[in-house]
Amino acid sequence: MSGTDLSRVAPPQGDAEPGPVVVLVHPQLAENVGSAARAMLNCGLTRLRLVAPRESRTSERAFAAASGADMVLEAAQVFATLEEAIADCNRVYATSARPREMVKRVVTPRRAAAELRQAAAAGERVALVFGPERTGLVNDHIALADTILSVPLNPGFSSLNLAQAVLLVCHEWFQAGDDTPEVELPYQGNRPATREELINFFDRLEAGLEEGGFFQATDMRPHMVRSIRNAFERAGLSEQEIRTLHGVVFALRKAPPAPGRPRRRDGQAAG
Ligand code: SAH
Repeated sequence: MSGTDLSRVAPPQGDAEPGPVVVLVHPQLAENVGSAARAMLNCGLTRLRLVAPRESRTSERAFAAASGADMVLEAAQVFATLEEAIADCNRVYATSARPREMVKRVVTPRRAAAELRQAAAAGERVALVFGPERTGLVNDHIALADTILSVPLNPGFSSLNLAQAVLLVCHEWFQAGDDTPEVELPYQGNRPATREELINFFDRLEAGLEEGGFFQATDMRPHMVRSIRNAFERAGLSEQEIRTLHGVVFALRKAPPAPGRPRRRDGQAAG
């Protein structure tokens, strides 16, 4: 499965979309614009604004990098200046890897995401502003923002690729509204075995082991039974798997010893 199913992607809702607007200021490379569009759509965002891009947002290279997020590129709006691009926004976050000599609040992506969710709920329009690849945002751009958003990274090497910065920030927004359980075990049409089914299987297995002479040292039996049971418990068996294991035990109990390896009552293969 490629993970792409465009029939499940809602068409861009324009101004009705609750998420932030992503503004790329003077992006130099079409590949980065395409990759940023892809990252946005990965995170359910579609409102892209470009300030005087050096290359066309609909160039072949942009579409190739967007890898199917064409709708974001096609709906992208182009502006001549950052002032125009953020004119209708109530809040603006300027992203930067570098500290700036300004008295301006600096937030992490996580904090920004929580604030963005609140702002969206209050019906505010928020912009996330990203700078050009080579220079980043200049201080005049930053001066137009309420807040600086900086991704904490290796202090000696913290500058991200433009599209990767877009991904990290947008992903934080996505995560703040995502309730995927941290761990899942999909049973694919089946269901987890009940305790009763599991215990019936243990009884059958242990009877078979008893018969085969596995529990040679009787004082070790309780310990061995517990560790075998724990091993199966850890497996999170489905009802279907329990039925298969019953079949396995049944077949093994009928099986003749392997040629040249007569079954010994102490449970150990000879030789
Ligand atoms: N050489 C530039 C970096 C440009 S990277 C500089 O020193 O500023 C392109 C853009 O990606 C940046 O303008 C910023 O918007 C974003 N970016 C890169 N690293 C980032 C980080 N650690 N935190 C926040 N944004 C970052």
